[in-house]
Amino acid sequence: MSNDKQFVKEITPQSEDFSRWYIDTIKKADLMSYSPVRGCIVFKPDGYELWENIQKELDRRFKETGHRNAYFPLFIPESFFQKEKEHVEGFNPELPFVTEAGGEKLEERLAIRPTSETMVGHMYAEWIQSYRDLPLLINQWANVVRWEKRTMPFLRTSEFLWQEGHTAHEDEADARKETMQMLEIYRDFAENYLAIPVIMGQKTPSEKFAGAVDTFSIEAMMKDGKAVQAGTSHYLGTNFAVAFDIKFLDRENQQQFCHTTSWGVSTRLIGALIMVHGDDRGLALPPKIAPTQVVMIPIGPAKTREQVNARVRELYAELKKAGVRVMVDDDPSQSPGWKFNEYEMRGVPVRVELGPRDMDNGQVVLVSRITGEKRIVAQDRFVEEVQKLLTETHQEMYDRAKRFRDDHMAQVDTIEDLKSFLEQKRGFVYAGWCGSNACEAQVKEETGATSRNIPFEPEVHKSTCLACGEAAKHTVVFGRAY
Ligand code: AMP
Repeated sequence: MSNDKQFVKEITPQSEDFSRWYIDTIKKADLMSYSPVRGCIVFKPDGYELWENIQKELDRRFKETGHRNAYFPLFIPESFFQKEKEHVEGFNPELPFVTEAGGEKLEERLAIRPTSETMVGHMYAEWIQSYRDLPLLINQWANVVRWEKRTMPFLRTSEFLWQEGHTAHEDEADARKETMQMLEIYRDFAENYLAIPVIMGQKTPSEKFAGAVDTFSIEAMMKDGKAVQAGTSHYLGTNFAVAFDIKFLDRENQQQFCHTTSWGVSTRLIGALIMVHGDDRGLALPPKIAPTQVVMIPIGPAKTREQVNARVRELYAELKKAGVRVMVDDDPSQSPGWKFNEYEMRGVPVRVELGPRDMDNGQVVLVSRITGEKRIVAQDRFVEEVQKLLTETHQEMYDRAKRFRDDHMAQVDTIEDLKSFLEQKRGFVYAGWCGSNACEAQVKEETGATSRNIPFEPEVHKSTCLACGEAAKHTVVFGRAY
């Protein structure tokens, strides 16, 4: 059993050093490796499988709402970025270029895409002629590169995987409807699939996407009180349509510019998943995304092993048939105690134990990763009871994350209040904001907190700006972010 302790001990407790806990956890769970290139990571199979599940679920939702997938090239001519002024300014420092290929210096440098609005804009100008071509609803699954100064596995990497939706519409109303529809899909996905409660709202002008008219986001709170922007949806107006000449003949036979949108989530979601649900024992995965939802571990002495294993295999087959992602670990070279810790550390939501006594009593033991609760259930109700526990586990994980967030939200009147809140309690605050960039910048400068978004449904309404004390235009959520 000494092994068990060793395993648990190697993960730094969250209260001691949250960042170290995070790195220990993802390494112990074997999700990634650092690559030789700064800021880039290797997604190992257990980490990549989380992304595959995110992809599957989101892709289904995108298709249900009429989107189709396409693929655009990785290399984008530098001149494309010059066409939209704000876009180039926003992305300039993070943009890597290919300057040489085939042993020759290129005539025009090629950017490695940080996002594809420019390339998509160029193509849409060709593809769209008439209102009959609209709306054009396309999504791309791809890798993108942004040369980030500060990096953290999954949460902020120089190369990351994501999806980027790009749509073109006849008018503003239709494009705005799309922007909101996709934000709502992200919210629903975060809450009902990842069990991560999020705050939906609009970004302030200084935090919006470079080139967007309006940016909307979902924001999540990690267990150290810091924020993760978990997804964004942009209404781009006609900015990219004008820059790339995306025009159509409308129903009155008049030339019009399209209104476009873009929206994306990335492998950052994996980082959020870990930081919202993980604990000192390691990873804790919500059942819907967990690659393995149930691990079955036979226990007891060698003399009953064969009999117990045979029954475990029967029960395994029943669960599998019911569509549960289940595995059996009957490796006799490891003790049950070692396995319990191992699968807890890997975040498997439910463990099933079966020993000779359970065999005699026609029962089986279910153990919840998140609460530690043990349930002794009749074998003839096995599948139902496992499914029930999985459903309850999702709800429990969501409720816990929501309770944590609610307990770490306050409202403040001044920057001083915000400072003392961040020192004492960590988390997010609601504060009034007059709408000026200078006040927002001052908050950042003095507290390290940035505006997360202007929530659609703030729990309080503040009347004065936390920086200048003038009348507030908006109630904003502020917090330190990853
Ligand atoms: P944006 O195109 O900037 O709106 O970003 C789209 C999505 O990608 C957002 O949900 C971000 O949270 C995420 N994202 C942005 N930069 C990174 C990065 N360096 N690493 C991982 N995810 C990122």
